[in-house]
Amino acid sequence: MNSSMIGKIEKAHRYAREPERISFESFKASFQGGHDSYTVELTDAGWNCSCHTFEAHLVGSTCAHVMAMQQILGGMLPDRARYDEQATEALVG
Ligand SMILES: [Zn+2]
Repeated sequence: MNSSMIGKIEKAHRYAREPERISFESFKASFQGGHDSYTVELTDAGWNCSCHTFEAHLVGSTCAHVMAMQQILGGMLPDRARYDEQATEALVG
């Protein structure tokens, strides 16, 4: 292996320990909930989830799946997509 490849691998290891370098602009994921599998998406328009809670806007524009993704991805989300405290307060009452 040449030295420039070794340098790139070392850099990759360092970057992998610095997740704050990463900011998801969009993604689509399958989320296995308690009863069913849902599709959770982050788009330019914000979060979307295929579950009933999200689609019926029972707790604003969030649901347990979106909130879980926000906790998992944390600082890797752009500001607009981070944990919404007000929506969570509406959920817990
Ligand atoms: Zn959901």
